[in-house]
Amino acid sequence: PAAPLFADVAGDIDVSFEFFPPKTEKMEETLWESIQTLSPLNPRFVSVTYGAGGTTRERTHNTVARIARETPIVAAAHLTCVEATREEIDAVANEYWAAGVRHIVALRGDPPTAGAKFQSPVGGYENAAALVAGLRKLHPFEISVAAYPECHPDSPDPIADLDNLRRKIDAGANRAITQFFFEPDTFFRFRDAAAKAGIDAEIVPGIMPVMSFAAVRKMSAMCGTDVPAWMARLFEGLDDHPAARQLVAATLAAELCRKLYAGDVRQFHFYTLNRAELSYAICHLLGVRPTDLTGEKAA
Ligand code: FAD
Repeated sequence: PAAPLFADVAGDIDVSFEFFPPKTEKMEETLWESIQTLSPLNPRFVSVTYGAGGTTRERTHNTVARIARETPIVAAAHLTCVEATREEIDAVANEYWAAGVRHIVALRGDPPTAGAKFQSPVGGYENAAALVAGLRKLHPFEISVAAYPECHPDSPDPIADLDNLRRKIDAGANRAITQFFFEPDTFFRFRDAAAKAGIDAEIVPGIMPVMSFAAVRKMSAMCGTDVPAWMARLFEGLDDHPAARQLVAATLAAELCRKLYAGDVRQFHFYTLNRAELSYAICHLLGVRPTDLTGEKAA
């Protein structure tokens, strides 16, 4: 069916935004500006990633705790199983609970050395499903997990990958957020396969706006996301035209979201890369508008 350009006429879209913890004071400033820009869109939650090997443990914690303390937004902390014992991970989760954080994005994570195979740490959680089960024993967190419409590179086949997702949901996860993808049918096929496999938890598409086509191509190669040939053509010649590139990126992501909306998707998770404007523009094109604190649409 043809989708209206401003999809959210019914005000029924929920968005969430993902950030990474800032490395420098300048990056911290950019992050807070981004949070301020995006918070009037009333996100369901904003989440903060956890660096490979727990390298951002402090920074992730500080960022999430600050969001929880200083803003009315629900803050979610990503947590991985890499290079830590169960006791260490449980201690981090307990600190989050004490800081008022009620939502964890539970992940296995990747080894700090790019391309290395994940090894279950001695005394650690062996995968995301085990982490979810561990968190469930600690506190009644809301828990999100990762899902892979194009199959995780470590998985022998899509059926095994769906089995793995089902184990995470059965262990107590509330929703799955997908790896990024660029064709709406990729998501629809995955959603259908998950439903057929008896997975009834909410599956939220992860939307990656293209800030840099070269970077997206590199990330896609690592995580198994297909970059359609037409995308290379779309971004051709834009390397030296950042403003035009942003317009193209916003149009492309909004078009993907519009097609997903036409296929009954109402939740969207944006990989913001700590830059608000692209995600804000995409939400605007979708019809998502600022609300005041009472939940009324702002004038
Ligand atoms: P799992 O679900 O545990 O497993 C991944 C794959 O391993 C499965 O598909 C399955 O094929 C295989 N597998 C696992 N257990 C078994 C088993 N018992 N038997 C057979 N096969 C098994 N990474 C970070 O480091 N920090 C982040 O903050 C972060 N945030 C993310 C957010 C989202 C929304 C997504 C989609 C990914 C994120 N990642 C992050 C990347 C993620 O850590 C990697 O994709 C990682 O390789 C897999 O993590 P997972 O939680 O999906 O793992």
